[in-house]
Amino acid sequence: MLQTLKILYHQGKQYIPDLRKAKVPGIFRGRPEISMEKVDEKALSEVCPTNAISVDPVRIDLGKCTFCSECSRLYPGKIFFTTDYRLATNERNRLIISEGVSSVISLNPDIIRKEIHKLFSGSLKLRQVSAGGDNSTELELNASGNVNFDMGRYGIEFVASPRHADGIVITGPVSKNMAEPLRLTFEATPSPKIIILAGTDAISGGIFEGSQAIDRRFIEQNHIDLYIPGNPVHPLTFINGVLDLLGIKS
Ligand code: SF4
Repeated sequence: MLQTLKILYHQGKQYIPDLRKAKVPGIFRGRPEISMEKVDEKALSEVCPTNAISVDPVRIDLGKCTFCSECSRLYPGKIFFTTDYRLATNERNRLIISEGVSSVISLNPDIIRKEIHKLFSGSLKLRQVSAGGDNSTELELNASGNVNFDMGRYGIEFVASPRHADGIVITGPVSKNMAEPLRLTFEATPSPKIIILAGTDAISGGIFEGSQAIDRRFIEQNHIDLYIPGNPVHPLTFINGVLDLLGIKS
């Protein structure tokens, strides 16, 4: 018993006490900032593998960015990735970062549906649908429930059946084969229900954008409640985004 207590004392806290203020290592690539430094904008935009960079003014669309860091490596004075992991929002155009702007990304409170706060702020069950995903964001979503991140402390959990869920979390670019299972999963989820897109592939198709192997009609035809960028999504990005959607402060 004494030995067990000694080990527990030595290990310290296993969980992150405050998920709102947790720090991530310096190598983490979060919200980018774009300086006003003059560069060859066309050349800069051409280094991006997913056309996430547009010019005049220079902007980065985090819904398309794979966070590969090639732009910041080649243009270190122009683009810098901060460790700010609060990247989620409920308005697609808020994912576009412009040069000279360093404000944090947040949700637009005016377009959060009223029933979301009322019904789900004490308990939110989610069904995850990997629609052609590569298992990277899926792994991180799994990690969101582990002893470190423990999103279950807020009543947020993944469940096995859409019939037990309040909404779905989509990962992957939505391959043709997964288009129909995705639609059926959403149909099987009782209303009111929410849709969360997790990761660059889900938000824009990522490197598969424009491919004939994907079918994104479900994304285009349904209201999206939350966009969570990342490639893959960090657990802190996911949890903080969902907490913001639910109106949970801490
Ligand atoms: S980090 Fe993003 S914006 Fe920069 S080159 Fe890679 S994908 Fe493009």
